[in-house]
Amino acid sequence: MSMTENNLDVLIIGGGPAGLSAALYLGRARRRALVVDAGEPRHAPSSGVHNFLTREGVAPVGFRELAWEDLREFPTIEHRQAYVEDLVFEDHHWRARTDDGQTLKARAVLLAVGVVDVHPEIPGYAERWAKSIHHCPFCHGWEVRDHPVAAVGGNDYARHMGPMLKNWTDDVIVLSHGEPFEAETEALLKELKIPFCPSPIVGLEGANGALETIVLENGTRVARSAMFVKLGQRHHELIHTLKLPLKGDHVEYVEVDMMQRTPLPMLWAAGDITTGFQQVLESAASGARAAAAIIMTLAMPAH
Ligand SMILES: Cc1cc2nc3c(=O)[nH]c(=O)nc-3n(C[C@H](O)[C@H](O)[C@H](O)COP(=O)(O)OP(=O)(O)OC[C@H]3O[C@@H](n4cnc5c(N)ncnc54)[C@H](O)[C@@H]3O)c2cc1C
Repeated sequence: MSMTENNLDVLIIGGGPAGLSAALYLGRARRRALVVDAGEPRHAPSSGVHNFLTREGVAPVGFRELAWEDLREFPTIEHRQAYVEDLVFEDHHWRARTDDGQTLKARAVLLAVGVVDVHPEIPGYAERWAKSIHHCPFCHGWEVRDHPVAAVGGNDYARHMGPMLKNWTDDVIVLSHGEPFEAETEALLKELKIPFCPSPIVGLEGANGALETIVLENGTRVARSAMFVKLGQRHHELIHTLKLPLKGDHVEYVEVDMMQRTPLPMLWAAGDITTGFQQVLESAASGARAAAAIIMTLAMPAH
């Protein structure tokens, strides 16, 4: 079945686990869907995907390739590498403009664009990111089990990640990188016998992306083989131009109902943009929920 730019049932923006899981549901439901993906997976620098049952340790890019192997069986699903720059709803359809000059028209849209990580400023950080510096112990805690590790972040993070890392190793230190410790944080860490220090990090040592020593401003040298850090996040511009309602305390997520529907007409959102539990399995699950709701909605009269 050939697809013109005007006869799409669903435009899926973002070809990560959320978008591709939705594509599988839509393909199996014989709905015409185009996945437009800029091709920048959030976890690309990581060596492997963990906690996705049956796919333990597969490379992030390999995960997507496996998904497309599955999707090739379903002729109503297509893929285009491009960046959606603009999205408007008019005459009961969504119209999208891509950076390669195409205009796409679809009855429904699934936003599955993922988030953009904002990293802390620490000298020597970039070359160690996703090698010896991680953000998620579910994803990478097992790889550093029984190693000396540091949790690096302010009070909220220290109270959460300090105790959490004890699941994987007894040798945890909390470094707040300049933020003074509150009495509540100190009391908790002392009770759990977790050492802590507020001195800013001024250097990281270790060859080829490895971490051996964290150097603090006060002159202390902390021998560590991994750090877990607090990431900031921001949304892609598309989320803001659509003026989608956001909710949340520290990080704001796109507001959706139980089936991932946004308050805008025929617009669903799934994956990292809608939750703080940012995992591949969870993204795939929310993409599936969105697709199920889209499939039901498309079967109804359009008015
Ligand atoms: C270093 C690291 C390691 C991780 N390891 C694990 C792990 O081991 N296990 C686990 O469960 N989770 C892990 N995660 C989390 C996991 O990567 C995310 O939860 C998951 O990738 C989110 O899927 P998604 O489909 O929402 O978005 P993404 O996977 O980020 O995919 C979104 C896609 O949309 C594209 N896009 C964005 N804007 C546009 C646009 N306007 N037009 C077209 N395309 C666009 C992007 O280029 C990207 O390809 C890790 C995260 C990081 C950062």
